[in-house]
Amino acid sequence: MQSAPRAVADHLTEVLALVAPLPAVRVPVVDAADHVLAEDVHAPEALPRWDNSAMDGYAVRADDVAAASDAAPVRLTVLADLPAGSAAEPVVAPGTAARIMTGAPVPPGADSVVPVERTDAGTDVVAVRAPAVLGAHVRRAGEDVVAGELVLARGTLLGPTQVAAAASVGCGDVVVHRRPRVAVLSTGSELVVPGTPVTRGQIPDSNSFLLAAAVRTAGCDVVRVGAVPDDADALRAALDEQDGAVDLVVTSGGVSMGAYDVVKEVLAGEAGMSFVAVAMQPGKPQGLGRLRRGTPILALPGNPVSAFVSFEVFVRPALRVLRGLAPGGDDETAIALEGWSSPPGREQYMPVTLRGTARRGDGPTVAGVRPAVRGGSGSHLVAGLARAEALAVVAADVERVEPGDRVRLMRAQR
Ligand code: AMP
Ligand code: MG
Repeated sequence: MQSAPRAVADHLTEVLALVAPLPAVRVPVVDAADHVLAEDVHAPEALPRWDNSAMDGYAVRADDVAAASDAAPVRLTVLADLPAGSAAEPVVAPGTAARIMTGAPVPPGADSVVPVERTDAGTDVVAVRAPAVLGAHVRRAGEDVVAGELVLARGTLLGPTQVAAAASVGCGDVVVHRRPRVAVLSTGSELVVPGTPVTRGQIPDSNSFLLAAAVRTAGCDVVRVGAVPDDADALRAALDEQDGAVDLVVTSGGVSMGAYDVVKEVLAGEAGMSFVAVAMQPGKPQGLGRLRRGTPILALPGNPVSAFVSFEVFVRPALRVLRGLAPGGDDETAIALEGWSSPPGREQYMPVTLRGTARRGDGPTVAGVRPAVRGGSGSHLVAGLARAEALAVVAADVERVEPGDRVRLMRAQR
């Protein structure tokens, strides 16, 4: 007897129970992007470290140039030249100035910088043609962060700007969660390597490439095993090779009720595994559990749209947890621009294209969506799937989406 399908949220809970954040490792800051911090980063010193010039010009005493004008320039003796990187500390006494470039420390005695454009650019004596407001064009020590301040909190996903912040406070390396290694394999005796000749009945394997690209863009390393035929021994050998060597195995195909559903055939009897029907469309048949040496495995259905949706709904949250992130992002709401039907009793994940649209009234602009594929949700329509920019999620009790209806929107996250 068939038990009732499992709700998507319940299945996701089961999936997430298989994973935990990976251990912390120290990585060079050059390799830190796309990792998640496992330890806070504090500034050991203030940033900027010294008062420094915001302009190319002359470090002066504002009092000296208070009366300067085009008609009556003030002449100052140039006592030093301070390019960026200069460690010199010439004392700027009354009647003197230091030529200074952007970023160079402001020398003692000086309190302001006159931009070169307001001078005759002299090198021995400079004629200053405008007064300086006290403190003008001086970047203050500590105005970015003060010594000891928290710069990046653990749990932060490091993108380019966060990497820059870590580097700026002098971190040569950072402590992050180890980057997950994920094995991806597809199953099916009909699958051939893309680019090789296809005979009747065969199709190019697209899922192992879809999943490999998805895993990689989700900040993980991928071991793309490729396509394995519907042969129990071949699949067992391929799984044994990955079990214990990776943090997660993701398979596609072979999990339905058919005669050649090899993933189910090989794994269904194992203690740590279960194969269930999830109340969703597409993506109903799902397998999950652990291989013999404990490596978690998610077995996705083979239809390409089903595999993609299953990745977004189950695999991506699991990868985020392995990386040290929260499983999901914030929900968004979108408005349907055209209607479509949805199966009763199953949460529908419709690949959609997006268009900005104004909500009626003065509300904020929200995305308008329409199915990416004419005729809706055929789970084999892999080329049409390439037009999709997001997934519209339709609740299980809705049988028809009408134009103007609100739907939940899932955009691919990092
Ligand atoms: P399955 O889940 O193995 O029954 O496969 C369902 C459908 O998806 C069949 O039409 C398969 O040919 C197709 N399919 C399975 N795996 C792949 C793959 N790796 N690439 C493209 N299509 C696939
Ligand atoms: Mg198959």
